[in-house]
Amino acid sequence: NAQNGTGETYNNPISSGFGNWSQAYEKARAFVCQLTLTEKVNLTTQTGTGATYGYELGIIPRLGFRGLALDDSPTGVRGTDYSSAYAAGLNLAMSWDRDLMFLQSYGNGAEHKAKGNNAAYAPVVGPLGRAPEGGRIWESYSPDPYLSGVAFGQSIAGMQAGGTIAIGKHFVLYEQEHFRQVREWNDYGILSFNITQPYSANCDDRTLHELYLWPWYDGVYNGMGGVMCSYNQVNNTQSCQNTRLLNDILKGEMGFQGFIVSDDGSQHSGVLSAIAGMDMTILGETSPNGIDGLGISFWGPNLTTSVLNGSVPEWRLDDMATRIMASFFYLGQDENFPELNFAQGYLPTFGYEYPTAKVDYTQVNEHVDVRDAHAQTIRAVGSNSIVLLKNVNETLPLSAPRQMAVIGEDAGPSMYGPNGCSDRGCDNGTLAMGWGSGSTNFPYLVDPLSAIQARALQDRTVVQYVLNNYASATIASVVQQASVCLVFANADSGEGYIEVGGNYGDRNNLTLWLGGDTLIQEVAANCSNTVVVIHAPGPILMEDWIDNPNVTAVLFAGLPGQESGNSLVDVLYGAVSPSGKLPWTIAKNRSDYGTDVLYQPNAPVPQLNFTEGLFIDYRHFDDAGIEPRFEFGFGLSYTSFQYQNLQILALSNNKTTLAMPTTTVNPSICPSQSLNPSDYTFPATISSITDYIYPYIEANTSIYTPQATPTPTINAVAAGAQGGDPALWDVLYRVQLQLNNTGSKAGQEVSQLYLELGNDTPPRQLRGFNKTMVQPGEAQTVTFDLRRRDVSIWDIVSQSWVEVTSLGTDIGVLVGASSRNLPLRGVIPAQG
Ligand code: BGC
Repeated sequence: NAQNGTGETYNNPISSGFGNWSQAYEKARAFVCQLTLTEKVNLTTQTGTGATYGYELGIIPRLGFRGLALDDSPTGVRGTDYSSAYAAGLNLAMSWDRDLMFLQSYGNGAEHKAKGNNAAYAPVVGPLGRAPEGGRIWESYSPDPYLSGVAFGQSIAGMQAGGTIAIGKHFVLYEQEHFRQVREWNDYGILSFNITQPYSANCDDRTLHELYLWPWYDGVYNGMGGVMCSYNQVNNTQSCQNTRLLNDILKGEMGFQGFIVSDDGSQHSGVLSAIAGMDMTILGETSPNGIDGLGISFWGPNLTTSVLNGSVPEWRLDDMATRIMASFFYLGQDENFPELNFAQGYLPTFGYEYPTAKVDYTQVNEHVDVRDAHAQTIRAVGSNSIVLLKNVNETLPLSAPRQMAVIGEDAGPSMYGPNGCSDRGCDNGTLAMGWGSGSTNFPYLVDPLSAIQARALQDRTVVQYVLNNYASATIASVVQQASVCLVFANADSGEGYIEVGGNYGDRNNLTLWLGGDTLIQEVAANCSNTVVVIHAPGPILMEDWIDNPNVTAVLFAGLPGQESGNSLVDVLYGAVSPSGKLPWTIAKNRSDYGTDVLYQPNAPVPQLNFTEGLFIDYRHFDDAGIEPRFEFGFGLSYTSFQYQNLQILALSNNKTTLAMPTTTVNPSICPSQSLNPSDYTFPATISSITDYIYPYIEANTSIYTPQATPTPTINAVAAGAQGGDPALWDVLYRVQLQLNNTGSKAGQEVSQLYLELGNDTPPRQLRGFNKTMVQPGEAQTVTFDLRRRDVSIWDIVSQSWVEVTSLGTDIGVLVGASSRNLPLRGVIPAQG
């Protein structure tokens, strides 16, 4: 309402159905324009914690529309049974395998759909991985934006091909768990802080674009249907009411066509979040962490009121509902979509349809087995993501060892079973998943010991084991008899609402848990052929034992999901030659990373300053001249490769100057509705259910005069295509080389291309990779396509991407096996 405005305007890009979204938008508009005001509001506001099982909204009985169901997670359908437990996003990054990224997400998407779940809160690309201790970096991929962008794009494409709307999360700069929510951190067991707001991640525009937003372009380009805005603030504005991020960048600059949903408790306002671009409120409540918030919503009836009093324009509500329904139609969910056949987080067959109210006792779970043959994919992700870090004396692959010792709690099953702790919030037995909402129930978990024993029988190998990390004497005697000793150790992390061993989501350090470092040294002290296997959510320090000559091989296996042991055996025995590469740096010292979690608040609103700018992970190590233990992109194989014949082809001379197009889109909004409050009061025909959030206002609701808020307008800049300016995606250069397998075994190699872009960028940045299978003695041609975005930097003055060659910069092109092993070199010359 202009009269009451603050002088600011919030430009809302009205969705228009770019490209292959146009049909979905037509259907969505037709659908939404037949709805009443309250029916539209009902599509934006979930039903509330405990009112129904899980995340649901938008039921419209009049039209026979059952509404939408939403659920976590990137590792599977959360809170149910007979569904798969996939490898972590981390392992997808470790695999550097585009096909597996797609396939795993396809399987997960197909399972969500078969359970009748319309949208998944997955995949995850925020956190990117600024801090190696960050609790949720295993849910996402890599601190390298290019690798993350590929994994995120493939995961979205895969999940949506499987039939489920992918809700990419968390937008944006959600790089640590500490202080993400006020209530969680002000009253957290022995910890108690006096913060007044979630932390603010403070980041300059160029770093935001070149690092943290980069993979979101890939997500939008691949048709991402939803985005979840994050808990943290960005530059001291809450993410979910940040018009710059949501309206200008995501919906404008990037041309995002789907809807934006809040996280549980990340919405901090009604009107502001609505006009800043949020389209759906998760759970619905103001404060889902606290009992007092139940049934009370910033939206629901308050959104109805806000439209009636003019503080939220009708066109904004139409746009919210249209964006939500467009995703539904984009995925074809109007045809043959299964009924919702499970209750999230509740496994018995019978229960209440409305659990808090204890109403409608009925069958709530059909226990549909949705796993299909996805176990094969999970096993393949596991084996193709394992990173071989050390292998001397041809220790691996194993060939019929005479006697084997398997040591460490991480080798065997948990005494509480694979699902023994709620949301996997403990570290017992072998570790195959981190904790929090990114977890899922295991249908089974093949532990390493079981898989090794089964395989070892073929060779008549004697297998002895000790699963107690502290049984030093027994361990010493068992390993002394063995010809090879496998020692397992782990570290864990997860989401901030669960504490494990004093780690409040974020890890406290980068060392191994349960005495792992000591255990490895004890084994190595008594066994000259010690193979170390690590399961962990991120980098760990290895200095205590990596140079020990008795440590002959080291495997980093990430968090591989239900097929853990089988995947490991594939690599240990050589059925699969290791081909994983590190998606981050393994440092010699924690301080070498230069970035860390803020563990103690530095202000009532903790300020997390990204002062390092573009220089995280290897970008920092390279720039500061710090020698890592193992560099980004490193990983050994059972065979050897040689790189030769680099060629660079310029494909197009048609280099247009990049500038964001300024299309104003015709909103074509639905016809106006009655704004008479009495038309939207609670209908006498409905009996209200406890804590269920309805869109109706009470008969006595006063349609109060709105507070001064910024003026919402629709004169917004829209990118004109998904993924921003289409010119960003033009391929400008093609780089080719020949990759020879000079060893004696078949194997896959991840060739990596790095660019030197000058202009205050890091010394080199990943801009291409390719995983190629090569037979011994043979050669393959490897091709990289460099798009305009790959050779550009973000210019804060023109607010656009600029090719560095147009700035007079020659681009150095480096290709090889890791970020520090780059035998081939070429140049892309500056223009003019
Ligand atoms: C997490 C989200 C998750 C949501 C719903 C939140 O605590 O941050 O990632 O999707 O819960 O479970």
